[in-house]
Amino acid sequence: MVGSKEGYQLHAFFFPLMAQGHLIPAIAMARLFSSRGVKVTIVTTPLNARLFSHTIDGDKQLGLDISVQLIQFPSEEAGLPQGCENVSSSHNFFDVAPKFFTALDLLQQPFENLLQQYLPEFVVADMFFPWVTDVAAKFGIPNLIFHGTSFFSLCVSDSLRRYNPHENIKSETDRFVLPGLPDQIELMRSNLPDLQKIPSELGKYFKRVDELEGRSYGVLVNSFYELEPGYADHYKKIMGRKAWHIGPVSLRNRDITDKEQRHSCLSWLDSRKPNSVIYVCFGSMVPFTAEQLLEIAMGLEDSGQPFIWVLRLKGEEAEQRSRMLDGFEERIEGRGLIIRDWAPQVMILDHPAVGGFVTHCGWNSTMESVSAGVAMITWPIFADQFHNEKLVTQVLKAGVSVGAHYFQEVVGEKGVVKREDIKKAVQQLMISGEEAEQLRSRATELKEMARKAFEGGSSYADLTALIEELRLNPRPEV
Ligand code: UDP
Repeated sequence: MVGSKEGYQLHAFFFPLMAQGHLIPAIAMARLFSSRGVKVTIVTTPLNARLFSHTIDGDKQLGLDISVQLIQFPSEEAGLPQGCENVSSSHNFFDVAPKFFTALDLLQQPFENLLQQYLPEFVVADMFFPWVTDVAAKFGIPNLIFHGTSFFSLCVSDSLRRYNPHENIKSETDRFVLPGLPDQIELMRSNLPDLQKIPSELGKYFKRVDELEGRSYGVLVNSFYELEPGYADHYKKIMGRKAWHIGPVSLRNRDITDKEQRHSCLSWLDSRKPNSVIYVCFGSMVPFTAEQLLEIAMGLEDSGQPFIWVLRLKGEEAEQRSRMLDGFEERIEGRGLIIRDWAPQVMILDHPAVGGFVTHCGWNSTMESVSAGVAMITWPIFADQFHNEKLVTQVLKAGVSVGAHYFQEVVGEKGVVKREDIKKAVQQLMISGEEAEQLRSRATELKEMARKAFEGGSSYADLTALIEELRLNPRPEV
């Protein structure tokens, strides 16, 4: 064993998944560790590095010990088009997923070579690189896993795996209770992906991910204890997993968003009354059917409320879908704004004019909304989003559901959410009344709790504890 590392500078490798919803929080985490004195090396591919290199350069200029180590993305070997290094750049994640997973597996050898060369004291790797646990173990290096989701969702997934409560449910829309959780949480079969209902390769893959998690050093969670105490405890004490909550990590990125070029939507928001605008954005990945887009447009128009809608149409259908919205932009001019490029979401949510968020409940969006004190209209689509919706609406009581029930790959393919339901939810949240006031005041409470946890409270303390533990637990010499 090398001696105790007390007083030494620890060196960490961060290995984020190449998807915006995982990359953004992982970079924020890497910066967080670096600001606490850890030497950080982010391992990623050239096109992904471009997305955040200016931020890292800024940190370096401030004297932080943080850098990027490039590895090539094996697009061609995996049968992906050249330049496809990030799932968020594809039109539909599900179309590229199998080849993308092949590419991720091909990164094993280059990653192992880097570990052998630099021998960092610990690694933080995305759950989509399950092999890292074993590769790191070869060199005696502890591996921390980052899932990019909530404690709540990790506990829900465990309950589903352990008890299979959905197995004997006949109808897709019948509700069933998730056994063993701190609250009475219900889901529908339609909320679950096929891989959870029928045996599949991807199902086996996630089982492997879970087994390896059990053997890893522990898990880093972008959350804070006070947000989901029952679930943080359940995860650690009942499921017996080691975990640290160090979020909301988006608060670490406040400094860069300030420096970024000011998007024109922020000037538009400046001219709006406080809490008057509803912000609509479904994250970085999902495509929509034309029919569903039209319903959203009409729902927002009929609601009579000011809104910002992030509508990045990709792929060949883009033109046809745009045509379908002909006349819409003219009709809503002055009241609604459509953003067709990447929106500065954290800055939008932090703007005082924003009073609500129609969100797909991606965990980053949820945490960003919580951190900004913005109440939500929940519209889950896939992944962990149906779980997060339950946390927001039933446990935190900081949002209302629009009533989306189907796990799907293209929004609107199964069960279109109608304009009346969208209008109703928007008005429920944006027009003052008892319910809207309750949701708002709950969201404001959560914002205050988030800030406290991050700035010297529970999240700060958990990160300190982890760094100290890693310092005192030296890895064996190889
Ligand atoms: N995001 C953004 N601008 C956009 C769309 C998304 O800044 O136009 C950011 C958002 O703030 C969040 C991330 O991209 O940090 C999306 O992550 P999330 O977990 O919410 O959803 P996913 O994209 O993984 O489905």
